[in-house]
Amino acid sequence: MSRSLDECDAILDNMCDCYRMSVEKTRWYGDAIGRRYRECPEGVCGFHKWVDPPLCTRGQEALRELQRRHEVSYEDDCRRRDALLAWYDRRLEDERKKFTESLAGLSLLCDVVKNLVLEASDPVEPVEPAPSLYPPMEEWE
Ligand SMILES: [Zn+2]
Repeated sequence: MSRSLDECDAILDNMCDCYRMSVEKTRWYGDAIGRRYRECPEGVCGFHKWVDPPLCTRGQEALRELQRRHEVSYEDDCRRRDALLAWYDRRLEDERKKFTESLAGLSLLCDVVKNLVLEASDPVEPVEPAPSLYPPMEEWE
């Protein structure tokens, strides 16, 4: 497939000074806020070319206001997230205390039951050692 001369010119127009295809980015600060531009993908040759004309003053103000609102919203989200995490931490600590207390109660109950069982059971008969499979050493000769 062949390209038209205009397509080739457009491609060449977007090559940076070190003959790589430039990349498109957007400036998000200063007087050029909202403007797209192209630059060297490696950032080595200093190639820079604006894609968009400058925004009007009102457009720049509107973008800055949107950025400010986004930051406020992000900070609110962070505060809500932190409050929720703190709430979960408190709940977790409460549950841990309840669990520890009930575990201690259960352990005490086990000790009481064990003692009752031991008191109620018959004394344990001493176990005779199992008879050896071999005769005593004295009889080896
Ligand atoms: Zn370059």
